[in-house]
Amino acid sequence: MASVISVLGSTGSIGTQTLDVARMHGLRVSALTANSNIRLLEQQAREFHPKMVAVMDMGAAAQLKIALSDTDIEVFCGEAGMISAAAEESCDTVVNAVVGVAGLVPTLTAIQAGKHLALANKETLVAGGQLVMRAVKEKGISLYPVDSEHSAIFQCLQGCPKDALQKIILTASGGTFYGKTKDELENVNVRQALQHPNWEMGAKITIDSATMMNKGLEVIEASWLFGCSDREIEVLVHRESIIHSMIQLKDHAVIAQLGVPDMRIPIQYALTYPERLPSPAKALDLSALGSLTFDKPDNDTFVCLPLCREALRKGGLYPTVANAANEAAVAMFLREQIRFLDIGEIVGEAIGSFGDNQTDFTLEDILAADQITRKKVEQKYGHSSF
Ligand code: NDP
Ligand code: MG
Repeated sequence: MASVISVLGSTGSIGTQTLDVARMHGLRVSALTANSNIRLLEQQAREFHPKMVAVMDMGAAAQLKIALSDTDIEVFCGEAGMISAAAEESCDTVVNAVVGVAGLVPTLTAIQAGKHLALANKETLVAGGQLVMRAVKEKGISLYPVDSEHSAIFQCLQGCPKDALQKIILTASGGTFYGKTKDELENVNVRQALQHPNWEMGAKITIDSATMMNKGLEVIEASWLFGCSDREIEVLVHRESIIHSMIQLKDHAVIAQLGVPDMRIPIQYALTYPERLPSPAKALDLSALGSLTFDKPDNDTFVCLPLCREALRKGGLYPTVANAANEAAVAMFLREQIRFLDIGEIVGEAIGSFGDNQTDFTLEDILAADQITRKKVEQKYGHSSF
């Protein structure tokens, strides 16, 4: 069980819920970080008294330094600040709740510093799974999944013999546009895409849920965490988000983990493993729900899921490229520069035009492939507007 945590991305949806769990169980906090939301970061710093805080944005960091000058909390900025927070001496567990591939270097830093990891930042594993899993093994640290599906699988696997797993069944809510046709999606807007049926999350992952890219990223994330191939990971649409995922074992027993859709359950398990402590989340009332439904994903309309599977099968830097194209496309969609369906097109184009694959690569290769892909997408689509 964690006792002193650093929370990277503490001002976001996962970050704030992590601090709810920390507050409830009296975990100490040694570092907090944000991109630019210094108002909330200051409040958090005053409540949790970390040794340090870090802000990516230089100007915001300078303002926060002044705001916190009556305290002994150190204020750092930029990537160096994120790295200091990830390696902060007194913490034993780093919660990575940063959004996007920006979380990769802090993840690797935390592992190198010998910290255990509670990982929400799935882009870390999508882009850098090979390096991350190698480093985890070398340093002998524990990596606890925070993503609800992966936490569910991790929970289902407790007590199972290592070679008993036959397949993973990842559940998907289907996002806000489940059941819609391509024609119906032609003109959907940002406001509509940001309405998730079950979860309150950051903007990027909410759009990823609407395109089903989120499930594609999660297939890749699961492949690294649990050593499964694309064929061993099934995706099942389950609108209610009550079954968070399942495993099928060799004897065809299926084990599922259920609960209300509240991220504080998986966050807490990642921080208190193997203990089970009281949770601020509500208890599940199945009789009130009455029934649970299941469906196959529509891979013709929501192309991001099969595209991520293709990237996973191709391996090497393909998942990095798919992720980078998606990050750039989602940012442009949120700025209303492209249409909703363009996101899938852009991810498909990036995978289709990437020819420089490598099976053995370094962090620098990953960061370069990420940057080149983003630039290409931005050059082609960054000037359009709707
Ligand atoms: P949010 O957008 O709500 O929060 C992101 C956090 O990261 C904020 O603290 C933000 O700071 C900070 N941040 C943003 N950009 C950067 C950057 N370039 N460098 C450093 N810090 C940055 O995201 P979520 O909490 O929704 O998601 C975080 C991660 O967890 C994602 O990878 C997501 O896929 C994953 N996840 C989220 C779930 C959820 O329920 N939200 C569920 C499962 C997984 P600021 O506030 O200043 O912008
Ligand atoms: Mg998830």
